[in-house]
Amino acid sequence: MPVQWDETADVVVVGSGGAALTAAYTAAANGARTLVLEKTEYFGGTSAYSGSGLWLPGNHVLRRAGVEDSVARGLEYLRAVAGDRTPAALQEAYVSTAPELVEFLDPALEFEFLSFPDYFAAPGRAPGGRGICPKPLPAAELGARLAQLRPPISMDQYGVPQDRETLTGGQALIGRLLLALDRTGNATLRTGTRMRSLVVEDGRVTGLEAEHEGRTLFVRAERGVIVAAGGFERNAELRRELQGLPGADWSSAAPGSNTGDALAALRAVGAAVDLTDESWWCPAVLFPNGHAAFTLGLRGGVFVNAVGERFANESLPYDQMGHEIRAGHATGVSHLPVWWIFDARFTGTPGMTQPAPDPEAFRAAGLWRTADTVAGLAERIGVPADVLGKTVSRFNGFAASGVDADFHRGEDLYDRFFAAGDGPNPALVPIERAPFHAVQVVLGDLGTKGGARIGVDGEVLGEDGAAIPGLYAIGNSAASVAGHVYPGPGVPLGSGMVFGYRAANRLRAGGR
Ligand code: FAD
Repeated sequence: MPVQWDETADVVVVGSGGAALTAAYTAAANGARTLVLEKTEYFGGTSAYSGSGLWLPGNHVLRRAGVEDSVARGLEYLRAVAGDRTPAALQEAYVSTAPELVEFLDPALEFEFLSFPDYFAAPGRAPGGRGICPKPLPAAELGARLAQLRPPISMDQYGVPQDRETLTGGQALIGRLLLALDRTGNATLRTGTRMRSLVVEDGRVTGLEAEHEGRTLFVRAERGVIVAAGGFERNAELRRELQGLPGADWSSAAPGSNTGDALAALRAVGAAVDLTDESWWCPAVLFPNGHAAFTLGLRGGVFVNAVGERFANESLPYDQMGHEIRAGHATGVSHLPVWWIFDARFTGTPGMTQPAPDPEAFRAAGLWRTADTVAGLAERIGVPADVLGKTVSRFNGFAASGVDADFHRGEDLYDRFFAAGDGPNPALVPIERAPFHAVQVVLGDLGTKGGARIGVDGEVLGEDGAAIPGLYAIGNSAASVAGHVYPGPGVPLGSGMVFGYRAANRLRAGGR
Protein backbone atom coordinates (compact mmCIF):
# COMPACT_ATOMS: atom_id res chain seq x y z
CA MET A 1 0.00 0.00 0.00
CA PRO A 2 1.40 3.45 -0.82
CA VAL A 3 2.42 5.42 2.25
CA GLN A 4 0.06 8.24 3.24
CA TRP A 5 2.55 11.00 3.91
CA ASP A 6 1.62 13.64 6.49
CA GLU A 7 4.42 16.01 5.63
CA THR A 8 7.11 16.44 2.98
CA ALA A 9 10.53 18.12 2.89
CA ASP A 10 13.52 17.87 0.59
CA VAL A 11 15.88 16.87 3.36
CA VAL A 12 14.84 15.41 6.72
CA VAL A 13 17.41 15.50 9.52
CA VAL A 14 16.89 13.33 12.61
CA GLY A 15 18.42 14.73 15.80
CA SER A 16 19.70 18.20 16.64
CA GLY A 17 23.31 17.97 17.82
CA GLY A 18 26.24 19.65 16.08
CA ALA A 19 26.33 17.17 13.20
CA ALA A 20 22.57 17.37 12.61
CA LEU A 21 22.35 21.15 12.65
CA THR A 22 25.40 21.54 10.42
CA ALA A 23 23.80 19.20 7.89
CA ALA A 24 20.48 21.02 8.19
CA TYR A 25 22.08 24.44 7.85
CA THR A 26 24.04 23.35 4.78
CA ALA A 27 20.93 21.87 3.17
CA ALA A 28 18.79 24.91 3.97
CA ALA A 29 21.49 27.32 2.78
CA ASN A 30 21.59 25.35 -0.48
CA GLY A 31 17.89 26.10 -0.87
CA ALA A 32 16.48 22.75 0.21
CA ARG A 33 13.30 22.65 2.28
CA THR A 34 14.76 21.19 5.42
CA LEU A 35 13.00 19.56 8.36
CA VAL A 36 14.78 18.86 11.65
CA LEU A 37 13.13 16.38 14.02
CA GLU A 38 14.27 16.24 17.64
CA LYS A 39 12.89 13.70 20.09
CA THR A 40 13.09 15.82 23.24
CA GLU A 41 11.86 19.26 24.21
CA TYR A 42 15.38 20.65 23.64
CA PHE A 43 17.67 21.06 20.66
CA GLY A 44 21.34 20.27 21.07
CA GLY A 45 21.81 16.78 22.50
CA THR A 46 25.23 15.98 23.96
CA SER A 47 26.65 18.63 21.65
CA ALA A 48 25.02 21.31 23.81
CA TYR A 49 26.95 19.93 26.83
CA SER A 50 30.27 19.87 25.02
CA GLY A 51 33.26 22.17 25.07
CA SER A 52 32.65 22.57 21.34
CA GLY A 53 36.27 22.04 20.40
CA LEU A 54 36.31 21.15 16.69
CA TRP A 55 39.25 19.25 15.18
CA LEU A 56 39.37 20.70 11.68
CA PRO A 57 42.97 20.75 10.36
CA GLY A 58 44.38 23.37 8.03
CA ASN A 59 41.57 25.90 8.32
CA HIS A 60 41.80 29.68 7.98
CA VAL A 61 40.93 30.38 11.62
CA LEU A 62 44.10 28.52 12.64
CA ARG A 63 46.05 30.50 10.06
CA ARG A 64 44.57 33.74 11.37
CA ALA A 65 45.74 32.76 14.87
CA GLY A 66 49.27 32.09 13.60
CA VAL A 67 49.03 28.31 14.00
CA GLU A 68 51.04 26.40 11.44
CA ASP A 69 48.91 23.62 10.07
CA SER A 70 47.77 22.08 6.82
CA VAL A 71 45.46 19.40 5.47
CA ALA A 72 48.50 17.28 4.62
CA ARG A 73 49.79 17.40 8.20
CA GLY A 74 46.36 16.72 9.65
CA LEU A 75 45.91 13.74 7.36
CA GLU A 76 49.37 12.41 8.10
CA TYR A 77 48.49 12.49 11.78
CA LEU A 78 45.02 10.94 11.43
CA ARG A 79 46.45 8.12 9.28
CA ALA A 80 49.21 7.53 11.79
CA VAL A 81 46.84 7.14 14.73
CA ALA A 82 43.71 5.61 13.18
CA GLY A 83 45.69 3.39 10.80
CA ASP A 84 43.82 0.98 8.57
CA ARG A 85 40.97 0.52 11.00
CA THR A 86 38.89 2.96 8.95
CA PRO A 87 38.93 3.53 5.19
CA ALA A 88 41.66 5.88 3.94
CA ALA A 89 39.08 7.56 1.70
CA LEU A 90 36.94 8.41 4.73
CA GLN A 91 39.92 9.84 6.60
CA GLU A 92 40.83 11.90 3.57
CA ALA A 93 37.28 13.16 3.08
CA TYR A 94 37.18 14.31 6.70
CA VAL A 95 40.45 16.19 6.74
CA SER A 96 40.39 17.61 3.22
CA THR A 97 36.89 19.06 3.71
CA ALA A 98 37.70 20.69 7.05
CA PRO A 99 38.96 24.05 5.66
CA GLU A 100 35.98 24.38 3.32
CA LEU A 101 33.53 23.65 6.12
CA VAL A 102 35.12 26.33 8.30
CA GLU A 103 34.96 28.86 5.42
CA PHE A 104 31.28 28.03 5.03
CA LEU A 105 30.40 28.22 8.74
CA ASP A 106 32.71 30.97 9.98
CA PRO A 107 30.47 33.95 9.29
CA ALA A 108 27.68 32.33 11.32
CA LEU A 109 29.74 30.63 13.99
CA GLU A 110 32.53 33.19 14.43
CA PHE A 111 35.27 30.75 15.31
CA GLU A 112 38.38 31.23 17.38
CA PHE A 113 41.45 29.06 18.02
CA LEU A 114 41.30 26.66 20.97
CA SER A 115 44.72 25.68 22.23
CA PHE A 116 44.69 22.01 23.28
CA PRO A 117 47.31 19.52 22.04
CA ASP A 118 46.65 16.49 19.87
CA TYR A 119 46.53 13.32 21.93
CA PHE A 120 49.29 11.17 20.41
CA ALA A 121 53.00 11.63 19.81
CA ALA A 122 52.69 10.73 16.12
CA PRO A 123 53.82 12.25 12.83
CA GLY A 124 51.82 15.33 11.91
CA ARG A 125 50.83 16.09 15.52
CA ALA A 126 49.95 19.71 16.30
CA PRO A 127 51.67 20.25 19.65
CA GLY A 128 49.60 23.34 20.47
CA GLY A 129 46.47 21.85 18.93
CA ARG A 130 44.47 22.45 15.77
CA GLY A 131 41.07 22.88 17.37
CA ILE A 132 38.72 25.81 16.97
CA CYS A 133 35.47 26.68 18.73
CA PRO A 134 32.66 29.19 18.22
CA LYS A 135 32.94 32.50 20.00
CA PRO A 136 30.62 33.06 22.99
CA LEU A 137 27.10 34.19 22.12
CA PRO A 138 25.01 36.68 24.13
CA ALA A 139 21.98 34.59 25.09
CA ALA A 140 19.62 37.47 24.31
CA GLU A 141 20.39 37.03 20.61
CA LEU A 142 18.65 33.65 20.71
CA GLY A 143 15.30 35.14 21.70
CA ALA A 144 12.61 32.48 22.03
CA ARG A 145 15.02 29.77 20.89
CA LEU A 146 16.86 30.01 24.24
CA ALA A 147 14.07 28.08 25.95
CA GLN A 148 14.56 25.30 23.38
CA LEU A 149 18.32 25.01 23.84
CA ARG A 150 19.35 22.06 26.01
CA PRO A 151 20.86 23.54 29.18
CA PRO A 152 24.52 23.02 30.08
CA ILE A 153 25.37 19.63 31.61
CA SER A 154 25.83 20.86 35.18
CA MET A 155 22.31 22.32 35.13
CA ASP A 156 20.66 19.58 33.14
CA GLN A 157 22.12 16.55 34.90
CA TYR A 158 23.21 17.88 38.29
CA GLY A 159 20.73 20.68 38.98
CA VAL A 160 23.46 23.29 39.51
CA PRO A 161 22.14 26.76 38.63
CA GLN A 162 24.17 28.51 35.95
CA ASP A 163 24.39 31.97 34.54
CA ARG A 164 23.17 31.75 30.96
CA GLU A 165 23.63 35.36 29.92
CA THR A 166 26.56 34.49 27.71
CA LEU A 167 26.55 31.10 26.02
CA THR A 168 29.90 29.36 25.60
CA GLY A 169 31.17 26.03 24.25
CA GLY A 170 28.44 23.70 23.03
CA GLN A 171 25.77 26.19 24.09
CA ALA A 172 27.24 28.73 21.67
CA LEU A 173 27.68 26.09 18.95
CA ILE A 174 24.05 25.00 19.03
CA GLY A 175 22.75 28.52 19.63
CA ARG A 176 24.66 29.90 16.66
CA LEU A 177 23.59 27.03 14.40
CA LEU A 178 19.95 27.56 15.37
CA LEU A 179 20.20 31.25 14.50
CA ALA A 180 21.91 30.46 11.21
CA LEU A 181 19.21 27.95 10.31
CA ASP A 182 16.43 30.38 11.12
CA ARG A 183 18.04 33.00 8.91
CA THR A 184 17.90 30.73 5.86
CA GLY A 185 14.10 30.79 5.88
CA ASN A 186 14.14 27.23 4.53
CA ALA A 187 14.18 25.23 7.74
CA THR A 188 11.46 23.90 10.02
CA LEU A 189 12.62 22.67 13.41
CA ARG A 190 10.47 20.41 15.56
CA THR A 191 11.02 19.30 19.12
CA GLY A 192 9.10 16.43 20.72
CA THR A 193 9.21 14.35 17.54
CA ARG A 194 10.82 10.92 17.66
CA MET A 195 11.85 8.92 14.62
CA ARG A 196 10.54 5.39 15.08
CA SER A 197 11.71 3.80 11.87
CA LEU A 198 12.75 4.52 8.30
CA VAL A 199 10.44 3.96 5.34
CA VAL A 200 11.85 2.08 2.35
CA GLU A 201 10.08 2.03 -1.02
CA ASP A 202 11.53 0.19 -4.00
CA GLY A 203 14.90 -0.15 -2.28
CA ARG A 204 15.20 3.53 -1.45
CA VAL A 205 14.69 5.33 1.87
CA THR A 206 11.92 7.78 1.09
CA GLY A 207 11.08 9.03 4.55
CA LEU A 208 10.38 7.95 8.06
CA GLU A 209 7.74 7.15 10.61
CA ALA A 210 7.77 9.43 13.62
CA GLU A 211 5.82 9.99 16.78
CA HIS A 212 4.68 13.44 17.82
CA GLU A 213 2.40 14.08 20.82
CA GLY A 214 1.22 10.48 20.76
CA ARG A 215 0.37 10.63 17.05
CA THR A 216 2.07 8.76 14.25
CA LEU A 217 3.48 10.94 11.48
CA PHE A 218 4.79 9.79 8.12
CA VAL A 219 7.37 12.27 6.87
CA ARG A 220 8.55 12.12 3.28
CA ALA A 221 12.07 13.15 2.29
CA GLU A 222 12.24 14.03 -1.40
CA ARG A 223 16.03 13.92 -1.47
CA GLY A 224 17.20 12.06 1.59
CA VAL A 225 17.09 11.35 5.31
CA ILE A 226 20.13 12.24 7.41
CA VAL A 227 20.20 10.31 10.68
CA ALA A 228 22.10 12.24 13.35
CA ALA A 229 20.35 10.98 16.45
CA GLY A 230 23.46 10.28 18.53
CA GLY A 231 24.56 6.93 19.89
CA PHE A 232 23.19 4.38 22.36
CA GLU A 233 24.82 5.89 25.43
CA ARG A 234 21.73 5.62 27.57
CA ASN A 235 20.63 2.15 26.61
CA ALA A 236 22.19 -0.02 29.34
CA GLU A 237 21.00 -3.26 27.77
CA LEU A 238 22.56 -2.46 24.38
CA ARG A 239 25.76 -1.35 26.03
CA ARG A 240 26.03 -4.61 27.93
CA GLU A 241 25.35 -6.54 24.76
CA LEU A 242 27.66 -4.58 22.44
CA GLN A 243 30.34 -3.33 24.79
CA GLY A 244 30.45 -6.20 27.26
CA LEU A 245 30.89 -4.13 30.35
CA PRO A 246 29.20 -4.71 33.68
CA GLY A 247 26.75 -2.15 35.05
CA ALA A 248 27.03 -0.11 31.91
CA ASP A 249 25.13 2.90 33.06
CA TRP A 250 28.02 5.21 33.83
CA SER A 251 27.55 6.91 30.56
CA SER A 252 25.63 9.88 31.69
CA ALA A 253 27.46 12.19 29.33
CA ALA A 254 24.59 12.09 26.86
CA PRO A 255 21.02 13.18 27.51
CA GLY A 256 18.68 10.34 28.49
CA SER A 257 17.16 10.44 25.02
CA ASN A 258 20.20 8.87 23.33
CA THR A 259 18.83 5.35 23.61
CA GLY A 260 20.04 3.95 20.31
CA ASP A 261 16.95 4.68 18.19
CA ALA A 262 19.28 5.50 15.30
CA LEU A 263 21.15 2.22 15.52
CA ALA A 264 17.91 0.24 15.62
CA ALA A 265 16.39 2.10 12.66
CA LEU A 266 19.56 1.87 10.59
CA ARG A 267 20.00 -1.84 11.26
CA ALA A 268 16.38 -2.48 10.39
CA VAL A 269 16.93 -1.23 6.85
CA GLY A 270 20.08 -3.28 6.32
CA ALA A 271 22.86 -0.89 7.32
CA ALA A 272 26.20 -2.51 8.07
CA VAL A 273 27.40 -1.44 11.51
CA ASP A 274 30.86 -1.11 12.97
CA LEU A 275 32.72 -0.04 16.10
CA THR A 276 29.77 -0.64 18.42
CA ASP A 277 32.20 -1.93 21.06
CA GLU A 278 33.82 1.50 21.22
CA SER A 279 33.08 4.82 22.89
CA TRP A 280 34.85 8.11 23.28
CA TRP A 281 36.04 6.92 26.71
CA CYS A 282 37.09 8.94 29.73
CA PRO A 283 37.61 8.61 33.45
CA ALA A 284 34.55 10.00 35.18
CA VAL A 285 33.87 11.01 38.77
CA LEU A 286 30.80 9.23 40.03
CA PHE A 287 28.28 11.65 41.55
CA PRO A 288 25.78 10.86 44.33
CA ASN A 289 22.89 11.13 41.84
CA GLY A 290 24.35 8.24 39.82
CA HIS A 291 25.66 10.35 36.96
CA ALA A 292 29.34 10.21 36.14
CA ALA A 293 31.10 13.39 35.07
CA PHE A 294 33.79 13.56 32.38
CA THR A 295 37.09 14.26 34.12
CA LEU A 296 40.23 15.57 32.47
CA GLY A 297 43.30 17.62 33.13
CA LEU A 298 44.63 15.84 36.23
CA ARG A 299 46.83 18.13 38.31
CA GLY A 300 47.58 15.57 40.97
CA GLY A 301 46.90 12.23 42.57
CA VAL A 302 47.17 8.67 41.30
CA PHE A 303 44.57 6.14 40.20
CA VAL A 304 44.66 2.74 41.90
CA ASN A 305 42.75 -0.45 41.16
CA ALA A 306 41.11 -2.89 43.56
CA VAL A 307 44.49 -4.24 44.69
CA GLY A 308 45.83 -0.77 45.42
CA GLU A 309 48.20 -0.52 42.45
CA ARG A 310 48.66 2.11 39.80
CA PHE A 311 48.00 0.78 36.32
CA ALA A 312 48.66 3.66 33.90
CA ASN A 313 49.95 7.18 33.41
CA GLU A 314 47.14 9.19 35.04
CA SER A 315 47.86 12.21 32.85
CA LEU A 316 47.02 10.32 29.66
CA PRO A 317 44.43 11.88 27.37
CA TYR A 318 41.05 10.76 28.67
CA ASP A 319 40.14 8.25 25.97
CA GLN A 320 43.47 6.48 26.41
CA MET A 321 42.89 6.32 30.16
CA GLY A 322 39.45 4.83 29.44
CA HIS A 323 41.09 2.12 27.34
CA GLU A 324 43.56 1.46 30.17
CA ILE A 325 40.70 1.04 32.64
CA ARG A 326 38.97 -1.40 30.28
CA ALA A 327 42.17 -3.35 29.64
CA GLY A 328 43.01 -3.45 33.34
CA HIS A 329 39.56 -4.67 34.21
CA ALA A 330 39.86 -7.42 31.60
CA THR A 331 42.85 -8.87 33.49
CA GLY A 332 40.50 -9.98 36.27
CA VAL A 333 41.50 -7.26 38.77
CA SER A 334 38.61 -4.87 39.26
CA HIS A 335 39.18 -1.40 37.82
CA LEU A 336 35.52 -0.46 38.18
CA PRO A 337 35.73 1.72 40.10
CA VAL A 338 39.27 2.96 40.48
CA TRP A 339 40.18 5.24 43.37
CA TRP A 340 41.75 8.62 42.81
CA ILE A 341 44.21 9.12 45.69
CA PHE A 342 45.51 12.58 46.56
CA ASP A 343 46.55 14.56 49.59
CA ALA A 344 45.65 17.62 51.63
CA ARG A 345 47.31 20.08 49.28
CA PHE A 346 44.17 19.87 47.15
CA THR A 347 40.88 21.18 48.54
CA GLY A 348 38.76 19.66 45.76
CA THR A 349 39.56 16.88 43.32
CA PRO A 350 42.74 17.79 41.41
CA GLY A 351 41.26 17.84 37.94
CA MET A 352 38.51 19.36 35.82
CA THR A 353 34.98 18.06 36.26
CA GLN A 354 31.71 19.79 35.51
CA PRO A 355 30.31 20.45 38.06
CA ALA A 356 32.99 20.35 40.76
CA PRO A 357 32.30 17.61 43.33
CA ASP A 358 31.00 18.76 46.72
CA PRO A 359 33.19 16.88 49.24
CA GLU A 360 30.53 16.72 51.97
CA ALA A 361 27.79 15.34 49.71
CA PHE A 362 30.28 12.87 48.24
CA ARG A 363 31.43 11.73 51.70
CA ALA A 364 27.84 11.17 52.76
CA ALA A 365 27.36 8.98 49.68
CA GLY A 366 30.60 7.02 50.32
CA LEU A 367 32.13 8.28 47.09
CA TRP A 368 34.85 10.32 48.80
CA ARG A 369 36.81 8.85 51.71
CA THR A 370 39.40 10.51 53.90
CA ALA A 371 41.91 9.29 56.49
CA ASP A 372 44.87 10.64 58.43
CA THR A 373 47.23 7.97 57.13
CA VAL A 374 47.66 6.11 53.85
CA ALA A 375 47.09 2.83 55.73
CA GLY A 376 43.86 4.21 57.17
CA LEU A 377 42.75 5.27 53.71
CA ALA A 378 43.51 1.79 52.36
CA GLU A 379 41.22 0.33 54.99
CA ARG A 380 38.46 2.81 54.11
CA ILE A 381 38.54 1.87 50.43
CA GLY A 382 39.10 -1.85 50.97
CA VAL A 383 42.53 -2.28 49.36
CA PRO A 384 45.57 -3.95 50.99
CA ALA A 385 47.30 -1.35 53.19
CA ASP A 386 50.81 -2.62 52.46
CA VAL A 387 50.25 -2.42 48.70
CA LEU A 388 48.76 1.07 48.78
CA GLY A 389 51.60 2.18 51.08
CA LYS A 390 54.17 0.88 48.57
CA THR A 391 52.30 2.45 45.63
CA VAL A 392 52.29 5.86 47.29
CA SER A 393 55.89 5.79 48.48
CA ARG A 394 57.17 4.57 45.10
CA PHE A 395 55.20 7.34 43.41
CA ASN A 396 56.60 9.90 45.86
CA GLY A 397 60.08 8.69 44.89
CA PHE A 398 59.21 9.34 41.26
CA ALA A 399 57.96 12.82 42.16
CA ALA A 400 61.29 13.54 43.87
CA SER A 401 63.39 12.27 40.96
CA GLY A 402 61.06 13.65 38.29
CA VAL A 403 60.93 10.30 36.49
CA ASP A 404 57.94 7.96 36.53
CA ALA A 405 59.82 4.72 35.87
CA ASP A 406 56.58 2.73 35.74
CA PHE A 407 54.30 4.72 33.43
CA HIS A 408 56.34 7.67 32.10
CA ARG A 409 53.93 10.28 33.38
CA GLY A 410 54.98 13.78 32.47
CA GLU A 411 57.14 12.76 29.51
CA ASP A 412 54.65 13.68 26.79
CA LEU A 413 53.69 17.29 26.18
CA TYR A 414 50.00 16.46 26.75
CA ASP A 415 50.86 15.25 30.29
CA ARG A 416 52.32 18.63 31.03
CA PHE A 417 49.54 20.69 29.48
CA PHE A 418 47.50 20.80 32.70
CA ALA A 419 50.29 19.95 35.13
CA ALA A 420 50.99 22.43 37.90
CA GLY A 421 53.40 20.69 40.27
CA ASP A 422 56.49 22.59 41.41
CA GLY A 423 58.90 19.61 41.50
CA PRO A 424 61.29 18.47 38.78
CA ASN A 425 58.37 16.98 36.81
CA PRO A 426 55.22 19.11 37.11
CA ALA A 427 52.98 16.10 36.38
CA LEU A 428 54.27 14.24 39.45
CA VAL A 429 52.91 15.79 42.65
CA PRO A 430 53.79 13.84 45.80
CA ILE A 431 51.09 12.38 48.08
CA GLU A 432 52.45 13.10 51.51
CA ARG A 433 50.34 15.62 53.44
CA ALA A 434 47.59 14.35 55.76
CA PRO A 435 44.71 13.95 55.52
CA PHE A 436 44.66 11.67 52.49
CA HIS A 437 41.71 11.41 50.13
CA ALA A 438 40.21 8.79 47.82
CA VAL A 439 37.48 9.59 45.29
CA GLN A 440 35.67 7.02 43.15
CA VAL A 441 36.29 7.18 39.42
CA VAL A 442 34.45 5.03 36.90
CA LEU A 443 34.76 4.36 33.20
CA GLY A 444 32.76 7.12 31.55
CA ASP A 445 32.46 8.30 28.01
CA LEU A 446 31.59 11.31 25.90
CA GLY A 447 29.40 9.21 23.67
CA THR A 448 29.41 5.86 21.91
CA LYS A 449 31.16 5.88 18.53
CA GLY A 450 29.78 2.85 16.72
CA GLY A 451 26.99 2.92 14.21
CA ALA A 452 26.29 2.66 10.50
CA ARG A 453 29.23 2.21 8.17
CA ILE A 454 29.33 5.23 5.91
CA GLY A 455 30.94 6.34 2.67
CA VAL A 456 32.70 9.66 2.06
CA ASP A 457 29.47 11.66 1.93
CA GLY A 458 27.92 10.01 4.97
CA GLU A 459 25.91 7.66 2.76
CA VAL A 460 24.91 4.55 4.70
CA LEU A 461 26.42 1.33 3.39
CA GLY A 462 24.71 -2.03 3.40
CA GLU A 463 26.44 -5.34 4.16
CA ASP A 464 27.43 -5.60 0.49
CA GLY A 465 29.25 -2.26 0.67
CA ALA A 466 26.74 -0.50 -1.60
CA ALA A 467 25.04 2.69 -0.47
CA ILE A 468 21.42 2.46 0.62
CA PRO A 469 19.81 5.12 -1.58
CA GLY A 470 18.35 8.10 0.23
CA LEU A 471 20.00 7.34 3.59
CA TYR A 472 22.84 9.13 5.42
CA ALA A 473 24.22 8.79 8.96
CA ILE A 474 26.56 11.18 10.77
CA GLY A 475 27.89 11.95 14.26
CA ASN A 476 27.62 9.14 16.78
CA SER A 477 24.93 7.44 14.71
CA ALA A 478 27.74 6.45 12.33
CA ALA A 479 30.86 4.34 12.83
CA SER A 480 33.56 6.89 13.57
CA VAL A 481 36.27 7.73 11.05
CA ALA A 482 38.65 7.64 14.03
CA GLY A 483 38.25 3.89 14.59
CA HIS A 484 39.57 2.79 17.98
CA VAL A 485 41.33 6.04 18.86
CA TYR A 486 40.46 9.59 19.90
CA PRO A 487 43.06 11.51 17.87
CA GLY A 488 42.63 14.98 19.29
CA PRO A 489 40.26 17.47 20.87
CA GLY A 490 37.17 18.01 18.76
CA VAL A 491 37.19 14.89 16.59
CA PRO A 492 33.68 13.70 17.58
CA LEU A 493 32.05 17.00 16.69
CA GLY A 494 34.46 18.00 13.93
CA SER A 495 34.03 14.75 12.02
CA GLY A 496 30.25 14.71 12.54
CA MET A 497 29.98 18.24 11.18
CA VAL A 498 32.18 17.52 8.16
CA PHE A 499 30.16 14.48 7.15
CA GLY A 500 26.93 16.41 7.79
CA TYR A 501 28.17 19.13 5.44
CA ARG A 502 29.20 16.59 2.81
CA ALA A 503 25.89 14.70 3.03
CA ALA A 504 23.84 17.86 2.68
CA ASN A 505 25.91 19.01 -0.30
CA ARG A 506 25.35 15.68 -1.99
CA LEU A 507 21.63 16.27 -1.52
CA ARG A 508 21.61 19.48 -3.53
CA ALA A 509 18.89 19.45 -6.17
CA GLY A 510 19.73 16.66 -8.56
CA GLY A 511 21.74 14.76 -5.94
CA ARG A 512 20.64 11.39 -4.62
P1 FAD B 1 24.00 14.41 20.10
O1 FAD B 1 24.61 15.75 20.20
O2 FAD B 1 23.86 13.65 21.37
O3 FAD B 1 22.56 14.64 19.46
C1 FAD B 1 21.68 13.59 19.27
C2 FAD B 1 20.27 14.13 19.36
O4 FAD B 1 19.38 13.19 18.75
C3 FAD B 1 19.76 14.33 20.79
O5 FAD B 1 19.24 15.62 20.93
C4 FAD B 1 18.67 13.28 20.93
O6 FAD B 1 17.60 13.66 21.77
C5 FAD B 1 18.19 13.14 19.50
N1 FAD B 1 17.51 11.88 19.22
C6 FAD B 1 17.79 10.64 19.71
N2 FAD B 1 16.94 9.74 19.21
C7 FAD B 1 16.09 10.40 18.37
C8 FAD B 1 14.99 10.02 17.58
N3 FAD B 1 14.57 8.74 17.55
N4 FAD B 1 14.32 10.96 16.87
C9 FAD B 1 14.72 12.28 16.91
N5 FAD B 1 15.76 12.69 17.66
C10 FAD B 1 16.45 11.76 18.38
N6 FAD B 1 33.29 16.49 21.40
C11 FAD B 1 34.05 17.32 20.66
O7 FAD B 1 34.26 17.06 19.48
N7 FAD B 1 34.59 18.46 21.21
C12 FAD B 1 34.40 18.79 22.52
O8 FAD B 1 34.87 19.85 22.97
C13 FAD B 1 33.62 17.91 23.32
N8 FAD B 1 33.40 18.20 24.63
C14 FAD B 1 32.55 17.39 25.35
C15 FAD B 1 32.28 17.75 26.68
C16 FAD B 1 31.37 17.01 27.39
C17 FAD B 1 31.08 17.40 28.83
C18 FAD B 1 30.72 15.90 26.80
C19 FAD B 1 29.70 15.11 27.55
C20 FAD B 1 31.01 15.53 25.49
C21 FAD B 1 31.93 16.27 24.76
N9 FAD B 1 32.24 15.95 23.43
C22 FAD B 1 33.04 16.77 22.70
C23 FAD B 1 31.62 14.81 22.76
C24 FAD B 1 30.51 15.30 21.83
O9 FAD B 1 29.76 16.29 22.51
C25 FAD B 1 29.57 14.19 21.36
O10 FAD B 1 30.28 13.06 20.94
C26 FAD B 1 28.75 14.75 20.19
O11 FAD B 1 28.10 15.92 20.63
C27 FAD B 1 27.73 13.79 19.67
O12 FAD B 1 27.00 14.46 18.68
P2 FAD B 1 25.78 13.80 17.91
O13 FAD B 1 25.26 14.84 17.01
O14 FAD B 1 26.18 12.49 17.36
O15 FAD B 1 24.73 13.47 19.07
